[in-house]
Amino acid sequence: MSESNAVLAAPAQNSAFHVETVLWVKHWTDQYFSFGITRPPSFRFRSGEFVMIGLPGEDGKKPILRAYSIASPAWEEELEFFSIKVADGPLTSRLQKIKVGDQILMGKKPTGTLVLDALKPGKRLWLIGTGTGLAPWLSVARDPAAYEQFEQIIVTHTVRSIVDLAYRDLFEKDLIEHELFGELAKEQLLYYPTVTREPFKYEGRITDRILSGAVFRDLGLPIDTFDPAEDRIMICGAMGMIKEVAAILESQGLVEGSNHEPGDFVLERAFVG
Ligand SMILES: Cc1cc2nc3c(=O)[nH]c(=O)nc-3n(C[C@H](O)[C@H](O)[C@H](O)COP(=O)(O)OP(=O)(O)OC[C@H]3O[C@@H](n4cnc5c(N)ncnc54)[C@H](O)[C@@H]3O)c2cc1C
Repeated sequence: MSESNAVLAAPAQNSAFHVETVLWVKHWTDQYFSFGITRPPSFRFRSGEFVMIGLPGEDGKKPILRAYSIASPAWEEELEFFSIKVADGPLTSRLQKIKVGDQILMGKKPTGTLVLDALKPGKRLWLIGTGTGLAPWLSVARDPAAYEQFEQIIVTHTVRSIVDLAYRDLFEKDLIEHELFGELAKEQLLYYPTVTREPFKYEGRITDRILSGAVFRDLGLPIDTFDPAEDRIMICGAMGMIKEVAAILESQGLVEGSNHEPGDFVLERAFVG
């Protein structure tokens, strides 16, 4: 056993974490990357949940773990994550350097509120995200259950520059051609990218486009505000955006839900800034 394997054997034995293997890594920009890891056969989760993942500590220190939304859907054989790169971040300064074959620690208890169970039945499911706040939508929007429960699924992704629109091809092309639910996606999925710092088809913050009614018009929807009877919303990403969208929803009569008590919208405070 090599020295690094010996280090990794410890958490596996005390069974606090799964020790999984990196299967692929994709760098989108100098800010974002995605990776896939093996999925332990015993690991069950609901699309949209998050789990603690991390790396063993260096020089005998404790492992560094952070919460991460699982970006793959519940049925997928491997687990996918969509990550920020924080230059001096304790975890991501190292995580951004992972390679195929490296090992990742993963907690055993996925959890979270960005799940279909936490929403009341409705007609349209809105998945509103900024930056890596897209991660849970990659899971939910690839889960056939979402298409069974809602007539329309609307994924919004707001970033600074066009190049930051990671997974744009997935939403604009691959999902529509997907063998399992391509037909469903073609009929029911709407993708709405917005860019804040350069000219683009849809410019500006999602909150401004909600308040002006632009998002509803652009998507050809028969509404110009959210309808508490028909719209269900999940929100994830920058704290400022989450608070603003939640305030808009509450002012329009929608009620926050939880696993315990399903409601009209749910949110996850995934990161600040
Ligand atoms: C429930 C939950 C789910 C999360 N899911 C994801 C996910 O799917 N992908 C992901 O990349 N991160 C996610 N995060 C954030 C993640 O836990 C870490 O904060 C991130 O990986 C950076 O870790 P770090 O140790 O390098 O830096 P940290 O010390 O954790 O963060 C340093 C600073 O970087 C900024 N920052 C941290 N994460 C982000 C981010 N994602 N986007 C923009 N700025 C950020 C914040 O300002 C923070 O203060 C989630 C957090 C929570 C609470």
